[in-house]
Amino acid sequence: MSKSGKSIVRRTGWPTSVSHPVVTPLQPSVVYSSPDPDTLDQQYEQKSGYTYAREGHPNAVVLAQKIDMLEGVEGGIITGSGMSAIGAVFLACLKAGDHVLGGNQLYGRSLRLMSQDLPKFGVETSFADPTDVSAMKAAVQPNTKMILVEVVSNPTIRVADMVGIAALAKEIGALLVVDNTFTTPRGYQPFEHGADIVVHSVTKLLAGHSDVTLGYAVAKDAELQTAIYDANASWGLTASPFDCWLAERGLHSFELRYDRAEENATKLATALKDLDGVKRVLHPSLPDHPDHNRVQQVLGNRPGNMLSFELTGGRETANAMTKAAPNIAFAPTLGDIGTTLSHPPSSSHRGLTTEGRAELGISEGFFRVSVGVEDIDLLIEEFSTAIKAATA
Ligand SMILES: *Cc1c(COP(=O)(O)O)cnc(C)c1O
Repeated sequence: MSKSGKSIVRRTGWPTSVSHPVVTPLQPSVVYSSPDPDTLDQQYEQKSGYTYAREGHPNAVVLAQKIDMLEGVEGGIITGSGMSAIGAVFLACLKAGDHVLGGNQLYGRSLRLMSQDLPKFGVETSFADPTDVSAMKAAVQPNTKMILVEVVSNPTIRVADMVGIAALAKEIGALLVVDNTFTTPRGYQPFEHGADIVVHSVTKLLAGHSDVTLGYAVAKDAELQTAIYDANASWGLTASPFDCWLAERGLHSFELRYDRAEENATKLATALKDLDGVKRVLHPSLPDHPDHNRVQQVLGNRPGNMLSFELTGGRETANAMTKAAPNIAFAPTLGDIGTTLSHPPSSSHRGLTTEGRAELGISEGFFRVSVGVEDIDLLIEEFSTAIKAATA
């Protein structure tokens, strides 16, 4: 209210300027006004222009187009989380009576979504070892509509037989969905190797700063892509403009961060291998990696920033390890600029029995590291000191 008692503050839009901001503007508007109903009709029919933010907004488009470029594709969408990207793909592509075959070491929530939620909608699911294509083939059913895999498994860093799986998907006419979160488009290009759909947890390496939760989904086929877009809009999985804005900011340094983190991981893996108290180290750069023969074929020279190691000792040793490394965040995530340490037996794999974990080679001394961009000498020093203290 002005002094006179009249409401004089109106929405007036943005001041005009001959110059433009260098930084992508943040556009939080939920609605967009159109000049007249004919124009609005065109907006809906031609999917041009913005109408309502749940159906699409410029900050999501700016971010999606950049990830599209990295994946060598067009038309990807941003969702509110990595899980909602996977959810949107399921909702768009599956119907009751279909079967989905998943890798048996998928991200924990993906395993749960498949084993507990999809069956409620009449979708059958099963899992097989993606490093063994004959096991995958044996799990195929006449109604297998989709295969969902991750290229590098969590937390045992196994490398899937992507060539064999792509051939299998083609042979049986199933959609191949690749969760490229761990490998990123810098480490693996799914569409060059037979994928139909790619999903990301943008939360991780792409955004890179552990301050947004976002996902990305894209299909090569335009009709499927429209279905994924509609699932996102209808089920309300849409991302917030502010999160998209932050993630785009992070994405500008993604390639630099990835290269540095990967180089650090390679050096850290080699350094950890020789320490007393370390039973084994898992990183694709190491010659004793269990899938060494496949690493070149699938990953080339991009071993990535994720490694795992196993200490001799039980829970006490594990507790001592995290306490002795106060500068390494003990936190169950990955892809941050800072190195993070996670302990699968007490986090991602806590739902399994001790025997179930043992089958995967995950003992109480098992740790996963998401290597960050810090000074490598400092990192090696901190890990060596902590391991020495924990296993003494
Ligand atoms: C984190 C993660 C997800 C889930 O992503 P959110 O953004 O946390 O929902 C899915 N797949 C993989 C491989 C992940 O690491």
